Amino acid sequence: VKNVYFFGGGKADGDGSQKNLLGGKGANLAEMNRIGLPVPAGLTITTEVCTYYYDNAKKYPATLDAEIDANIAKIEKVMGKKFGDLENPLLLSVRSGARESMPGMMDTILNLGINDQVVEALSEKTGNPKFAWDSYRRFLQMYGSVVMGVEAEEGEHHDPYEVILDKAKSNAQVEIDSELSEADLRWVVAEFKQLIKDRSGKDFPEDPREQLMGSVNAVFNSWNNDRAKVYRQKYGIPAEWGTAVNVQAMVFGNTGPESGTGVAFTRDPATGENVFYGEYLIDAQGEDVVAGVRTPKPIANMSKDLPESHKELLEIRKVLEAHFKDVQDIEFTIEEGKLWMLQTRNGKRTGFAAVNIALDMVKEKLITQETAILRIPAEDLSHLLAPIFDAAAEKKATNVGAGLPAGPGAASGQIYFTAEAAVEAAEKGQKVILTRQETSPEDLRGMIAAEGILTTRGGASSHAALVARQMGKVCVCGAHTMDIDYDAKTLTGNGVVLKEGDFLSLNGFVGNVYAGEIESSPSQVIQGLIENKAAAKKSATYTKFVQLMKWADRLRKLDIRTNSDTPDQVKTAVKFGAQGIGLTRTEHMFFEGDRIDAVREMILADSDEGKAKALKKLLPYQKKDFTGIFKALEGRPATIRLLDPPLHEFIGTMTHQQIDELAGKLGVESSFIHSRINALHEENPMLGHRGCRLGIVYPEITKMQATAILEAAVEVKKKGTKVAPEIMVPLVSYAKEFELQKEVIDAAAAEVREKHGLKKNQLRYTVGTMMEIPRACLTADAVAETAEFFSFGTNDLTQTCLGLSRDDSSSFLPAYQEAEVVDTNPFASLDQTGVGQLVETGVAKGRSTNEKLKIGICGEHGGDPESVKFFHRTGLNYVSCSPFRIPVAKLAAAQAVL
Ligand code: ADP
Ligand code: MG
Ligand code: MG
Repeated sequence: VKNVYFFGGGKADGDGSQKNLLGGKGANLAEMNRIGLPVPAGLTITTEVCTYYYDNAKKYPATLDAEIDANIAKIEKVMGKKFGDLENPLLLSVRSGARESMPGMMDTILNLGINDQVVEALSEKTGNPKFAWDSYRRFLQMYGSVVMGVEAEEGEHHDPYEVILDKAKSNAQVEIDSELSEADLRWVVAEFKQLIKDRSGKDFPEDPREQLMGSVNAVFNSWNNDRAKVYRQKYGIPAEWGTAVNVQAMVFGNTGPESGTGVAFTRDPATGENVFYGEYLIDAQGEDVVAGVRTPKPIANMSKDLPESHKELLEIRKVLEAHFKDVQDIEFTIEEGKLWMLQTRNGKRTGFAAVNIALDMVKEKLITQETAILRIPAEDLSHLLAPIFDAAAEKKATNVGAGLPAGPGAASGQIYFTAEAAVEAAEKGQKVILTRQETSPEDLRGMIAAEGILTTRGGASSHAALVARQMGKVCVCGAHTMDIDYDAKTLTGNGVVLKEGDFLSLNGFVGNVYAGEIESSPSQVIQGLIENKAAAKKSATYTKFVQLMKWADRLRKLDIRTNSDTPDQVKTAVKFGAQGIGLTRTEHMFFEGDRIDAVREMILADSDEGKAKALKKLLPYQKKDFTGIFKALEGRPATIRLLDPPLHEFIGTMTHQQIDELAGKLGVESSFIHSRINALHEENPMLGHRGCRLGIVYPEITKMQATAILEAAVEVKKKGTKVAPEIMVPLVSYAKEFELQKEVIDAAAAEVREKHGLKKNQLRYTVGTMMEIPRACLTADAVAETAEFFSFGTNDLTQTCLGLSRDDSSSFLPAYQEAEVVDTNPFASLDQTGVGQLVETGVAKGRSTNEKLKIGICGEHGGDPESVKFFHRTGLNYVSCSPFRIPVAKLAAAQAVL
């Protein structure tokens, strides 16, 4: 096997398609070489070597050393320098690179191959001793911390290397690193070496080849550091993937005013606007731009500082987008006026940017509509629906600062200054704004816990901005006029001092920061779509959203319905494009106003007459509910579920006073009510007397509900609106249960027809069942002989298949996720391998006896993109979800087709 791949001088062993083997970085370095971009030569050690390393007690394949040597010789040839040479030394960088980028999670080492002799040679050869010694001190700093483990220790607040650097700067009376003289840097190098020796007990290795293998080991080891593990867990990256290691010839941005380094996006990754977006620093190296030590300049300024390179970069921007057909996130360095490309990858972007970019690129004919659809993570559409600040409230709010708008959206919350404090507060249920001078990968947990992130330093490419974009968090970064005092735990801006726990609001669209909480209002999409506001309809977000939905509608095969219980919800859902109701829960209607008294009366009645009397009172209420729903649907189908919950839920929560009052109304003793409550108590109500089991024991309930539905249908139809009622029997296990209920419903229908003198075709309805018990799925062929439709109730089906209570699982599911028993919460995303089989079986068996069987799903999973794709593959007719998930479901359904 080939363990090492070469790239350089316009050629490469690998190419951009080999991300699994070469990692994202390595594959694209090869690809950039192939398309003729200026890339320093290098070699990539494959991800398979990483797997080998971990499988073989941290040993390497026998041939690795020789392969590395042979490829270093090739690098030397292309670059015209020699590794470890005392005339014209080649320095190397050692860079990690997993399949998917994990920004800042693993380690990079720059300027490798330097030692006491090489530094002199470098200084001589370049005539730039200051640069040579700056490179040396940087190398010591990285090698010392990453490879030799000399870092800030527990309880040590400041990085020990930075302490030495600060001392050098204050001795020299300068402000920034690049102002240190050769002599200052020599002193720093000596101090660094001493520090490393004192703390590690070992000398820093002078031998370049030893330095190289030490660094390669360190990169492979960093695949399993804590940060990387947390990150992998969050993004579901398997540990087996491993990382590749890239060893690349160094080019230097730190040689003086004609040099520099920067990062850029070919378009704005926060908004998606088609502008070149990035920043750079003159006379700087590597992470200087990102680290926030010096404030980088916006990329447009480069046209003054380094006009030639700027021009070349603008050209490369076009070449890259034309080649990769997507927004690129690039890293570059300029050495003495010569531009070098160091990295390119598809840029991570916010939901807003994803939509904008995809639609723009279709217009520019870079990609097809289908590609555009596939490129937008369906879940990200929810960002476009998230609330924004109420304009009037924002105007009145106290502005305390402003920074770069790095993550669009609006967030209000209480400020905390450390990741730990943020996590703790969030666990207590607070909304949190993580407030830091700058964030580092160690802050990841705090960022996950926060509603929004504010930093006072760093630019658009800072760590905070990057992670916020990726997580879809609201973020304002580099609010320079604001000041954080970590010791006092205060944030100061415009003369206002905020303490830990005080409220702060961030407008991530424009970068404004306000003291206090600001009221929110619906997003532009909602304002345009649901509230029909003209101004919002003109916004780019609204227009693009609508366009995208049109494309999705054209492609998708699945119908999208909604789970809605009230006419208002139905109206909203219809505006989102719902094609009907997949689930109306009739019991919600029982709790409203004084209906609950009639419901309780019905439950408590001990005679058939008493029950009938109470049900008679309920009928007009139910009829009115259904009338409203049918009207709002304007002819679209409505699946209405018969009463489902255990009766105890309606009476178990009554206080003594309520019981006494009810007893008075009903003319019974309070003790009678108490005894009925006791009688209805169940040990395991979710598996108890509920669903169709109620309708079978009390058919009069089913009859009342069916009558109310059909009476409403008749009434609405008479007034000229079409109706399509679908009556759904819940919790069926046996075909016989369904048949018994259907008889009751059909009898009720006959009565309604007779009462109104209607022929069969003048009052149509269908009867079907909710599939939520494994037995019904396994015997679906029998059920489908009489049922006209199935609707998978995947919430209960998950509970009953797994024997797992949704309401109680939160205490151990996180541990299950950590231990990788489950990848995701099975109540959020369908367990396709387990519960999925029940769905597949139900579909196949059901259609085997009833070809025309209509099949849908109405659990929470109807709004989860991965589940929607599964339901498409399984051949369902529709998915049903809550109104606000409809756009996500539509997009996922379209993606499922592609
Ligand atoms: P990360 O994956 O964390 O971004 P990189 O491997 O990209 O780490 O390295 C970080 C930075 O180090 C790069 O952005 C670049 O500025 C600098 N760097 C890496 N390799 C070289 C090189 N061969 N020459 C000059 N600078 C380099
Ligand atoms: Mg990088
Ligand atoms: Mg159910």
